[in-house]
Amino acid sequence: MIKIINSLKNSYKRKIMIFVVISLFMAFAFNEITNKDSYIIYYENQPVGITKVRPQVVYKAYGDAKAKFYSEGKNISDDKIYLEKTGKKYGNVKYIGENEISETIYSRLDDKEPILVGKSTQLFKYVNPYYEECEYVYDDTMYEDEIKVTRDEASGMREVTVMETYYNGKKHDRKILETKVVTKAVPRVVHIGTKKRPEYILPVTDYVLTSGFGPRWGTNHNGIDLAVPTGTDVMAARDGTVIQAGWNGGYGISVYIDHGNGVVTRYGHMSETLVSVGQAVKQGDIVGLSGSTGDSTGPHVHFEIRENGAPIDPVKYISY
Ligand SMILES: [Zn+2]
Repeated sequence: MIKIINSLKNSYKRKIMIFVVISLFMAFAFNEITNKDSYIIYYENQPVGITKVRPQVVYKAYGDAKAKFYSEGKNISDDKIYLEKTGKKYGNVKYIGENEISETIYSRLDDKEPILVGKSTQLFKYVNPYYEECEYVYDDTMYEDEIKVTRDEASGMREVTVMETYYNGKKHDRKILETKVVTKAVPRVVHIGTKKRPEYILPVTDYVLTSGFGPRWGTNHNGIDLAVPTGTDVMAARDGTVIQAGWNGGYGISVYIDHGNGVVTRYGHMSETLVSVGQAVKQGDIVGLSGSTGDSTGPHVHFEIRENGAPIDPVKYISY
């Protein structure tokens, strides 16, 4: 290389060489500029137009319009060109009906030759039903295994405004512009109990279960029968206040204890009561002695739990 340069020390030869190099470079550059290949214009990455002349002028930016130029599938330029939105200088905006806007974008290659890029926008609205998420209410007036629907759901209607954009007739984009509630949906409301079920104990510990809760002899057996020898201690199932102590019809000598919140326990067929009405008792306190008084066929304790007067199966609270 040095040899060659040295040999070109002669300034005439050197000038010729430089001229040739510059000429080659110019020819290459000229070719780039005046190339008559097709250039595909990309607008927001969508092919929107084709031109035989490579744009040489960079126009004023409009929005985020960008374009890349390709020739024979090769990216030849990352330059931005700017597609003028119409309505002012290079095109027009046409309204077709109420919701349709037709729009034309031009790309100027120079001051004479615009490329037409068709862009149309369709705006439309539709109404459709919708639902609200269910509302859950934690409710300490209900037991934790209870659930209750307190309000049913109702659908509402909403109006959705959608804009679809087409480039040269091809769908390019769909956007939800606005969602407006026409009629409000009503959510379902579900109450979920949080109250702990009260803990009971059975009134006797050493017993034989002779009858469960439920239908018996054509009626309903409102409690459970726990067979024990006469004179066995009968305990209060929970803390409460004695509201009945003594003879009470078919229950014979019996004790009722009020536990508050509408809950009462009953102990029937005793031989003796050891408490009196109005007396406060603690769970496990002895309220009487077992027997077989009232409608009874043998010594046992008839034990009931009532909620707001209605008998419930004690097995819900006590496993026995
Ligand atoms: Zn009974």
